[in-house]
Amino acid sequence: MRPPVTESPSNPQPEMKPWIAAIHAYVPGKSAGEDGRPLVKLSANENPLGTSPGALAARGQAVVPSLYPDPDSTDLRAALGKLHGIDPARIVCGTGSGELLTLAASAFAGPGDEVLYVRYGFSLYEIAARRCGATPVVAPDADYGTDVEALLALVNARTRVVFIANPNNPTGRFMTRAELARLHAGLPAYVLLALDQAYAEYVMPEDDDGGLDLAAEHTNVLVTRTFSKAYGLAGERVGWGTGAPALIAALNRIRGPFNVGNVAQATTLAAVEDQAFVAMSRRHNAAERARFVAAIEALGNHGLRAVPSEANFVLVLFEGKLSAEAAYKGLAERGYITRWLPGQDLPHGLRITIGTREHMDDVADALRALAEGAR
Ligand SMILES: *Cc1c(COP(=O)(O)O)cnc(C)c1O
Repeated sequence: MRPPVTESPSNPQPEMKPWIAAIHAYVPGKSAGEDGRPLVKLSANENPLGTSPGALAARGQAVVPSLYPDPDSTDLRAALGKLHGIDPARIVCGTGSGELLTLAASAFAGPGDEVLYVRYGFSLYEIAARRCGATPVVAPDADYGTDVEALLALVNARTRVVFIANPNNPTGRFMTRAELARLHAGLPAYVLLALDQAYAEYVMPEDDDGGLDLAAEHTNVLVTRTFSKAYGLAGERVGWGTGAPALIAALNRIRGPFNVGNVAQATTLAAVEDQAFVAMSRRHNAAERARFVAAIEALGNHGLRAVPSEANFVLVLFEGKLSAEAAYKGLAERGYITRWLPGQDLPHGLRITIGTREHMDDVADALRALAEGAR
């Protein structure tokens, strides 16, 4: 029997599910000041060196826009598999890695389940958890990094997914291979470890966290990576994930059937083939990050502190007379937009993307002037 259609005066419009209504939409990094003036963007961790020339050349060619793209991103998965030594059958591509992380929560958690992540974690995890009706659970941090014991202490029979970004955004903190292995070893096999390696290409190869090995060896580890950061292709919206066949099959059921466009596939394929560009981005970032951190450390007497970072940004804490808000506004006046994060429990921090050498020198000079002038 079909239920009768009744008029519900209290409910004259389609009603958002309560777990959707509880979501605060993702806040992207800004690219202009309050007055609309365009600013140098150090707010979204994009690559200041741009994009691989080979990828740009491929982008300009060879696709037929009237045709749907390859639904399985076959060539791109083959190239990623070859580069990383992974069977392409264990790879899925997404509309950015954000799509895959969100789908991972939906595939493995639902109402009544818990999704766990650390305080000062990536803001998308809360959205991903709430979107599927699961309950987000936040573990305490250890000096802005992951506290493995504190996190494991919150795992229970309702836990379904643990999100970890390594390096973490917005803090930049990094878990070593040993810490990550300890975290994984402490998780029950029914808990999915969704390891978000958006910044992995910025980590020195000798410091690799072993995430891809965990994903190869265990049935409960999904690793995601992206073309948005070191590859310099944030605008193309391509990410990928790898894990056991059952994990990949789950994501393939629910992803968009043509989730990676044909221009995006051709461009990222060429980008995979230009590892020299990725290595150059990593070297530039490591050198400029070290110089910038040294400049912040020199302002320690003014209460500025740089959280240790392995990513392409630094979280600067303001614990003296100069507030993060005043620094944010002062930098904007000087032409730089950074990321002030009061909404993420970080009213005392600014996340600053590592830009060009010239821009980082200018930002460091501006912070020195602001700190010296603060009263
Ligand atoms: C930037 C970022 C991503 C990448 O998102 P895309 O959807 O691939 O652009 C994922 N995770 C973290 C932690 C990030 O900072």
